[in-house]
Amino acid sequence: MNAANALDLLANRQISTLHGPADEFLFRYANQDIIVLALGEWRHRKVPVRVHSACFGAHYLASIECDCREQLAVTMREMLRLGGGIVIFLDQDGRGNGHAGLMRSAEYARQVNCNVGDAYEALGYPRDARTYHAVPLVLRHLGIEEVILFTNNPEKLATLRDAGFELETRVVVADPSERRHLDNYYDNKRAEGHMIPRTAPS
Ligand SMILES: [Zn+2]
Repeated sequence: MNAANALDLLANRQISTLHGPADEFLFRYANQDIIVLALGEWRHRKVPVRVHSACFGAHYLASIECDCREQLAVTMREMLRLGGGIVIFLDQDGRGNGHAGLMRSAEYARQVNCNVGDAYEALGYPRDARTYHAVPLVLRHLGIEEVILFTNNPEKLATLRDAGFELETRVVVADPSERRHLDNYYDNKRAEGHMIPRTAPS
């Protein structure tokens, strides 16, 4: 590993949240900040983990064009039910193409009526530019070897499996009452290989 891609812990603190007391860690990797929120009693042998691509549209603009907000809410609820867990926030808006890329592709998709992946490609972006190289380093820094991964993304699973983690998976989708506006979005995700059940697990 070259020094530019080393993982550094820049700061950590205790933080009071709506979900109770938590720990916050700020790592830096490949010129990107990675914030980790560790909720509740998270130091289990098998740690509930979510790798969350932070999404400006969902989290700040109340966009209903993706399920990032719902996935985060469902994940945190389920983690707390298990006693605690950690959420790793990656700065990968627009599938790693940046917010300008997201805006351009969303507008292109709307105008020509194609899906967002096709729109990224039509505009010269990768369909999905996200990478997860930092995640195994973060987990090992925190002393985690066994993971319950909250995701529907096979890329995230493969990254951790290839890095040698013991893995269990929990599929995360929006609750049925909150997903009517997401039907097309989920159809596209399924077509791209994501693990989205037709009806949400109870
Ligand atoms: Zn989103």
